[in-house]
Amino acid sequence: MKSYQPVIGLEVHVELKTKSKMFCGCPADYFGKDPNTYTCPVCLGLPGALPVANKKAIEWCVMIGLALNCKIPLFSKFDRKNYFYPDLPKGYQISQYDQPFCINGEITLENGKKIGITRVHMEEDTAKLTHAKVDGENVSLIDFNRSGVPLVEIVTGPDFESAIEVVEYLKKLQQIVRYLKVSNADMEKGDMRLEPNISLRVTNELPKYKVEVKNINSFRFVGKAIEYEIKRQTGILEKGETPKQETRGWNEGKNVTLSQRSKEEAQDYRYFPEPDIPPIRWEESQISNLKSQIGELPDQKLDRFQKEYGLTRQQAAVLVDSRDMAEFFEKAVETGKTKEVNPVQIANRIINRKMDITKVSPEEVVSEITSKGAGIISDSKELEKLAKEAIEENAKAVADFKAGKEAALQVLIGAVMRKSAGKADAGKVREILANIFGS
Ligand code: ZN
Ligand code: MN
Repeated sequence: MKSYQPVIGLEVHVELKTKSKMFCGCPADYFGKDPNTYTCPVCLGLPGALPVANKKAIEWCVMIGLALNCKIPLFSKFDRKNYFYPDLPKGYQISQYDQPFCINGEITLENGKKIGITRVHMEEDTAKLTHAKVDGENVSLIDFNRSGVPLVEIVTGPDFESAIEVVEYLKKLQQIVRYLKVSNADMEKGDMRLEPNISLRVTNELPKYKVEVKNINSFRFVGKAIEYEIKRQTGILEKGETPKQETRGWNEGKNVTLSQRSKEEAQDYRYFPEPDIPPIRWEESQISNLKSQIGELPDQKLDRFQKEYGLTRQQAAVLVDSRDMAEFFEKAVETGKTKEVNPVQIANRIINRKMDITKVSPEEVVSEITSKGAGIISDSKELEKLAKEAIEENAKAVADFKAGKEAALQVLIGAVMRKSAGKADAGKVREILANIFGS
């Protein structure tokens, strides 16, 4: 029996969290809103409406490209991608064809393997179709709130050899766009949608067919779909046949992919330059300005945390997982400096206690460590006295908390911590304050 080598590429669509849509002024945070309330002539595709490109979205697209080590050509343009489907009111999608914003990037996997990123381009999202039954009749409902939301498409070369590599890449990509704060990349809300293409080869030549699986919305399903396709295509090849070039869909109930349509070629879309939007010409200085806004990315932080704070790779990985966590840790390290608490102690505490950083402050973490040995104050009477003083001195925090702002409690806890020179038992202080407020 021959052995077949999987050849896998990936297209990922990431929705940006800009305030407004890509080509009109409608708000872009459509999730959970009443259908067809975020629309205007532009995103409804009404005749005569003219698009105006969203500057912030374009800048964010370029920032994603830069974070993925892409080159940014100084000339770029939008194109029309023509196809007919009810979710596309204009009959075409404004996208980018031969001159995208970003080209030739890469992401490096844990084992050092580089995944090439062919392009990162800017386009607009489509409306959302829902298939439902109304008065006993099967109908399709269209919600145009999503129509025209900025969408960035990130395309890799056929560089993956397994589902495991694909999932690792996706996690890194998700982490990077979250670090940039340009998308929530929330899979469940459809902020990030995945389309792997899979084929098998015997020799070193690329296969002559490609099977694309459309619009998968979870890392687990993308892994399953790829493994299913490898088995399915192996079966076909072993019979001496060639799998069909086609687009398939993942059926999560049956755990299989199902044929949807034969795959389009680029010429089917009759791409041509978008006549309503002028091409974009960048100055070098604009690109370097965007580069300077990127900040430290997860891989750099991972290295630095190990070198600067003496953490293990594993510890550092937990702490750089999200930008908020990394910032929390570094604030705690800063506080710790003045109290002879070292970064490793702080890392251990955060990781071992699986701390929820939305519920404690960096100062509390440090004072919990110092108070462990040095006369922690956990006497209720004494803490109550300090809590009452804190309440009297922080009328605004009290009012905020009573108005439902949970975070205001932190201000009061912080005040007690200061009064006790960092020695109060933060957990107990929280309890006491909660008791006083009767919640
Ligand atoms: Zn609109
Ligand atoms: Mn696309």
